[in-house]
Amino acid sequence: MPPVAAERIAALAQRRLAGAKGQRFWRALEELADDAEFKRELAHALPQFSAFAAMDRRRFLQLLGASLAFGGLAACSGPSSEQIVPWVTQPPGVTPDVPQFYATSLAYAGDVLGVLVESRMGRPTKIEGNPLHPASLGATGPSPQAAVLELWDPDRSQVPLYRGNATTWDAFATDIRTWFASFSHDGSGLHVLSDRIVSPTLRLQRDHWLARFPGSRWYEYAPVAHDNAEQGASLAFGAALAPRYHFDRADVIVSLEADFLGTMPGRVAYARAFAERRKPPPGSPGMNRLYVVEATPSLTGTMADHQWVLASSAIACFALELARTVGVDVAPRTSATLEVFAKRLQVLQSDLLAHAGKCLVLAGDSQPPQVHALAHLLNEKLGNVGRTVDYVAYPDAVDKRHTLGELAHAIDAGHVQRLLVLDCNVAYNAPADLSFGERLKRVPNLIHWGLYVDETAQLAAWHLPASHALESWSDVETSSGVASIVQPLIDPLYQGRSMHELLALLMGEPVRNGLAVVQHYWRTQQPAMSWQESLRNGVIAGTGNSLVHAQSRADALKEWSPPASSPDALELLFRPDPTVWDGRYANNGWLQELPKPLTQLTWSNAALVSPQLAKEYALSNGEVITLECEGRSVQAPVWITPGQAARSITVHMGYGRTHAGRVGDQLGFNAFALRTWSQPWLMQGVMVQKTGRSVELASTQMHLRMEDREPVRSLTLVQLMADPRAAEEGDKTPPTLYAEQPQGDYSWGMTVDLNACIGCKGCTIACQAENNIPVVGADQVLREREMHWIRVDRYYSGAPEHPVTRHQPVPCMHCEHAPCELVCPVGATVHDSEGLNVQVYNRCIGTRFCSNNCPYKVRRFNFLQFSDLTAETLKAQRNPDVTVRNRGVMEKCTYCIQRIESAHINADREQRAIADGEIVTACQAACPTQAITFGNLRDEHSAVSRIKASPRNYDLLEELNTRPHTSYLAHLRNPHPDLEDEA
Ligand code: SF4
Repeated sequence: MPPVAAERIAALAQRRLAGAKGQRFWRALEELADDAEFKRELAHALPQFSAFAAMDRRRFLQLLGASLAFGGLAACSGPSSEQIVPWVTQPPGVTPDVPQFYATSLAYAGDVLGVLVESRMGRPTKIEGNPLHPASLGATGPSPQAAVLELWDPDRSQVPLYRGNATTWDAFATDIRTWFASFSHDGSGLHVLSDRIVSPTLRLQRDHWLARFPGSRWYEYAPVAHDNAEQGASLAFGAALAPRYHFDRADVIVSLEADFLGTMPGRVAYARAFAERRKPPPGSPGMNRLYVVEATPSLTGTMADHQWVLASSAIACFALELARTVGVDVAPRTSATLEVFAKRLQVLQSDLLAHAGKCLVLAGDSQPPQVHALAHLLNEKLGNVGRTVDYVAYPDAVDKRHTLGELAHAIDAGHVQRLLVLDCNVAYNAPADLSFGERLKRVPNLIHWGLYVDETAQLAAWHLPASHALESWSDVETSSGVASIVQPLIDPLYQGRSMHELLALLMGEPVRNGLAVVQHYWRTQQPAMSWQESLRNGVIAGTGNSLVHAQSRADALKEWSPPASSPDALELLFRPDPTVWDGRYANNGWLQELPKPLTQLTWSNAALVSPQLAKEYALSNGEVITLECEGRSVQAPVWITPGQAARSITVHMGYGRTHAGRVGDQLGFNAFALRTWSQPWLMQGVMVQKTGRSVELASTQMHLRMEDREPVRSLTLVQLMADPRAAEEGDKTPPTLYAEQPQGDYSWGMTVDLNACIGCKGCTIACQAENNIPVVGADQVLREREMHWIRVDRYYSGAPEHPVTRHQPVPCMHCEHAPCELVCPVGATVHDSEGLNVQVYNRCIGTRFCSNNCPYKVRRFNFLQFSDLTAETLKAQRNPDVTVRNRGVMEKCTYCIQRIESAHINADREQRAIADGEIVTACQAACPTQAITFGNLRDEHSAVSRIKASPRNYDLLEELNTRPHTSYLAHLRNPHPDLEDEA
């Protein structure tokens, strides 16, 4: 069936909005349009109405491999010399069914995080945040949760390869002895390329390398780097300084495309601080106000009180004008684009001045260095330095770093005889104009060290397997210099070695053991450091760069003027993918199947276009277009994105992999094929051509709908202050003759604060990891068969060109009057004495009556045998406290009943009641903003009871009288009074 024409959808949507009274929430333009043809398409797409479509069995198995194949071939791991003990004789203090937690750290998606890893008899099974680590504060977000699946991925590189053939580390050691001898004593011709270094030990090893081989060069490259921020600080202060933002102290925040809740380093802790200031008074220091100016919707933008849509290339003009009006010494700038922003700029300026010293301006990586410098100058002018922002020196000498561009020149000049590539996939992710795939072929000897035999490894003479972060000793450092140790939870499953061990081997150092190398570094750098305490706490006491007095250069941007841009030209924006980042997590099934926060796409990327552009080109979702820029082109499916700047097209990096592994190969398109070295974030003059082809994209945005009811409540702070019961206006709970709560000591319940939820979906993936939830693959997602127990719905309200966005996590409501329980013919879904709606898998015969009768659409059915019951390593990855479900069985959120039972056992043993806060569900633990609270509703003093007493508390679909144990706190906005009409 052909896709519904975008033009008709837009027209119908506009007509419906024009006739709307009050707030109306919608998920997709098609839903807003309420088009008859769309309804037919929807009915066609619904799995219960469609025949079991023919499926490419090979592809199905490949995708299913995301859960099945994570079993694989891990039998080659030996016992750890440092950690592992034989379980024949149980060591004292260890009980086999009681998990142990170890503090370690992860470098992930451009950030570092302190974590606690749950170990089950020596097997890492789950990751939690480390409350003692300042970058984590006990939470994680999505990517770190998935690290445990990466560890068990059988597609990881397992043995050294020489020209594609399996060999040994000894053979490599023999080889290097010969080729080292062929170099001149200073190492000329020997070059190294690595990711951005966040390990202090590795930094020292790099310095030793360069001292040992002064003719060698060390280059660093990360596709998602913070070069603009570093150069912006240098421009403003004459030195590379790293800002540390204090969102908890800021009343007014202005983000110039800075996604500090989604992609910026430090985002987990920033999200916590930001959410703390979204709480309304009394009992809080007052709610902050967030202004976001951006071209493509971000997580931060969705939390804004004012989200202003502006082409990315025009934001520099906006920043310059804002700086001028606030009093920064810059050249005046006129721009036709800004005329429509005149009132907004005026209001923004007065709001910033009214909150001088208590406000914050920040710029994103996608903005040029000058905009970052303007943000610094604005903060200085407004007296924010030392209050809402302060500065530390960068841990590394950024100005001495050699770049990928320099490496390209060195290769062209024939200076590179041997290139050691350390976990860098430049054959895939280097800018297209550097043609690294071709250049690497000209390097006589290429050595690649990495987790996967990826695109770069394919070109290498030697490929060496890396050990995973959960298998290695190392260390990491945040951008403000807080250091922590990375300790292994398990011996390497395969023949991987750490980067420290590899460099020690290459330099012929006597100490080659990873633990010894890291320990040696810290014993020499910090002799007073307690190694045991640092391991126990997961953070090294006393680390963290000291504050620097930042004094701006008065004339930093006096004469600067942003380059002119044509308002009619199309701009192409590059962004890291919300789940697979720059492609490094492409083989991770959990991340592939996690719906991307704004588009709800799974298993693919797309070219995001505005509703206006879709109308102009008559584009529909899934329609394949050719994007052409500077003589290069890619073909990409379209995704129409409300809130996208009219003439901006966004492409996410990380897809189009050819050697990611069985899960991640051949998905989406490769955005790097258009990216250039000089314009990594924004290219102008992109051309669009229709191809006449369409693909079906597996988006979950129209799945599991609640049919035009009002799932989200939202009001402004002013409305709440005027009438504290304003959020209760829609309450329609009918009376009941039955008990509302269980009568025993415990009645478990949950609240989700929609005002704190940023839509990151950390909760979804934490639940998946905790509860052994399988991955189903794109084909099954298209049939609405995704298995996540907690989904995060995304709703829009307002006009599609500049909508307001809300996120709503939806786990099982655990209804006291559960409609699902009444219809089960075999009593497989029943109520327990503590208010839980439980599922007895062994009784379930798969009628799916319960699913049909659930108004919240939270039950999941195993249409196929999604869980693998045979692969050995998958068994090792799973949580042994949770049943693995079979085909034909219904499943759903249990409020982590295994954690409740564990608390019961402990309390019974100690003859006491379960304390408030003792049970933390997996979703609650992962949440960076503490949006989720769980506890005992029978205890009126428990945190969850106190939150439920808030006038913002409401039940979802309460008119159905289901008496849910899960409830929500209404969303709040704090718009500026002079811009109320935008609220
Ligand atoms: S509730 Fe879920 S989606 Fe919302 S902020 Fe917390 S972890 Fe992220």
